Amino acid sequence: MNIPGLHHVTAIASDPQRNLDFYAGVLGLRLVKRTINFDDPGSHHFYFGDEAGTPGTILTFFPWPNARRGARGSGEVTTTAYAIPAEATGYWIERLQRLGVKADRPARRFGEEVLRFSDPDGMAIELIAAAHPGAIQTWQGGPVPAEQALCGFHSVSATLDDPAGTARLLTETFGYRLAGEAGNRLRFTATGEPGLGQSIDLVQVEGAARGQLGAGSVHHIAFRASNEAQQLAWREKLSRLGHGVSPVMDRTYFHSIYFREPGGVLFEIATDGPGFAIDESVAELGTQLRLPSWMEKSRERIEEILPRITLPTEAIL
Ligand code: ZN
Repeated sequence: MNIPGLHHVTAIASDPQRNLDFYAGVLGLRLVKRTINFDDPGSHHFYFGDEAGTPGTILTFFPWPNARRGARGSGEVTTTAYAIPAEATGYWIERLQRLGVKADRPARRFGEEVLRFSDPDGMAIELIAAAHPGAIQTWQGGPVPAEQALCGFHSVSATLDDPAGTARLLTETFGYRLAGEAGNRLRFTATGEPGLGQSIDLVQVEGAARGQLGAGSVHHIAFRASNEAQQLAWREKLSRLGHGVSPVMDRTYFHSIYFREPGGVLFEIATDGPGFAIDESVAELGTQLRLPSWMEKSRERIEEILPRITLPTEAIL
């Protein structure tokens, strides 16, 4: 039993409209689900992904309009990287510049070209020109042509004071292998068939202060389990190894278990199913506010208190 790769990344944002305009408008991702934070019905929960919201393409946000900005530090994921087609870097340099997004000059890492910039809340995003980007159904209702579209996650980078415990978890328990080492960066990659989001980089910054959660922070990352049975097997295995694992939680679009890995990063293992088409058709994904059945009776009130947003249309950019 090995982990095949990332399922989703969940982060905190401030202004919902600005978040939507950046990820759908600038980066061309599809808003695949618009729902609310089940623990805080006055705020949105956005899910961005490919056309169908394939595991390994999903970035989710809790946008809290007045959220204070977080501070990057150890014990958290500090960079989220998407794969782009090998020839697409030039397109993205030009596009980001035209839309007023300041990117660093492209750098090379493990033989691949990396374009780095921040989202409006200061969250670090990288576009990595991959020799073999994942085959996904890129969203063609947005502003970015298929040849240049983001191809799901490439990797995430976690900053750690001491990566030893995390490295052991990845290799001895998850089945990842050490795939590269450069300076203070270790790259671990899932074994098995090539797929989306298979790498995680551990960046050692000795003595780094703990990250402070806020807007622009990654709250947790989720790895994939193909079904409920496998998730339960993971729960048992991790518990046996002494990780304090949460009970299984029903997140409507997948089921989740959570635990804090030895380096302090919140890890989740999420099932591939049932997926985003459980409460609206693939064609309609993200077009309406979706609520879990037990909250439908409060829809009117919820719609009233949620911050107003305008859904992205092709006309934005
Ligand atoms: Zn999650």
